[in-house]
Amino acid sequence: MKIHEYQAKEILKKYSVPVQDGIAITNLSELDNAISVLQSRGINQFVVKSQIHAGGRGKGKVYNPQNREELILEGGVKFSPTPEKAKDYAEKILNNLLVTHQTGPEGKIVKTLFIAEGLNITKEFYIGILLDRAVSKNVIMASTEGGVEIEKVAAETPEKIIKEWIDPAVGLQNYQARKLAFALGLEGEIFKNFVSFIQLLYRAYEETDASLLEINPLVVTDQNKVIALDAKMNFDDNALFRHADINAFRDLNEEDPLEIEASKYNLNYIKLDGNVGCMVNGAGLAMATMDIIKLAGGEPANFLDVGGGANKDTVANGFKIILSDPNVKAILINIFGGIVRCDRVAQGVIEATREMEVKVPIVVRLEGTNAAEAGILLQESGLNFDVARGLKEAAEKVTSVLSN
Ligand code: ADP
Ligand code: MG
Repeated sequence: MKIHEYQAKEILKKYSVPVQDGIAITNLSELDNAISVLQSRGINQFVVKSQIHAGGRGKGKVYNPQNREELILEGGVKFSPTPEKAKDYAEKILNNLLVTHQTGPEGKIVKTLFIAEGLNITKEFYIGILLDRAVSKNVIMASTEGGVEIEKVAAETPEKIIKEWIDPAVGLQNYQARKLAFALGLEGEIFKNFVSFIQLLYRAYEETDASLLEINPLVVTDQNKVIALDAKMNFDDNALFRHADINAFRDLNEEDPLEIEASKYNLNYIKLDGNVGCMVNGAGLAMATMDIIKLAGGEPANFLDVGGGANKDTVANGFKIILSDPNVKAILINIFGGIVRCDRVAQGVIEATREMEVKVPIVVRLEGTNAAEAGILLQESGLNFDVARGLKEAAEKVTSVLSN
């Protein structure tokens, strides 16, 4: 699960990680109050920050959502030396469309603004903590090239990224924190502040079951303070049951509407960019099905695991979700009848196809218990199914339907 920057900062504050002060608003009527509260805390310059689940906001562009050609503002993160400037930017950003290199051309509507303390920055660094699956350890990545796109640094100058692997059984050791600080070229008070910062940050990463904690940039201020200026946190969904407070940060506005719909039916659905809709039972078979579609020259439109006990309703719900994606030009149903009998699934496919008046070609491959009976049912249904026996044959059929 992903959360917003302002939410990540709330979590980090609980772990005493230094973050700058700020207040989130969802309506312009809350702005005056937010600014006066910040002023009462001695803050007199601000940064208006768009809250969307995507990075690159600083270099993004704000457009009119009704007319996507009309550019309203360059940049979704705006330094505002006065309250008037902050108000001007907030009006230009809130409820408008922010397009960044991570949102894709469709962009995202900004529904929340974080009105933050504007800091005087002397240096920007990059810090990321994540799991390195290859060695079963957490890894802290750090770079002096903070603020810019770290993907670019990784691709062009990988030597500028320092890595320190942390054994989860032992945790981050003092010497490792110091090693990172040395490698970043820090000295004196800043060195000390960084060592303490990284230890608190690592603790926050570990105790919240985060899968990613990225601070880009981590900044040094003109007061030699080390502060998280941006914060991105992703969490392991399987651990959310023990973090009700984090789960409450879920923002459905930011999730794919089809994925939300699918989760209501207990279907594991992930939207992809291709045009072959897939309905499969079992995650492993679903992955294999996507692979073989690609091998046959097609592009899957989704991952969909309807679960072990697929029946008429699951098939109908699966169809509903798949067909709501306008890119889908053909469907491949690949179901193994182990727990469920193939003839029952076939019955479900036939009824759902009739009910939903499916217009796109459907290739069906049912294997396992009562596969032969299922094939006969499909063929005699009077509907236009293309029945395949093997997986390779099914993938080839569905891709050839598309090229015709
Ligand atoms: P994104 O990574 O989505 O572009 P950031 O939060 O990293 O958004 O902000 C982009 C840039 O804006 C930062 O690299 C920094 O230079 C500047 N910035 C962000 N917040 C502040 C702040 N509170 N004070 C001063 N400058 C800021
Ligand atoms: Mg950033």
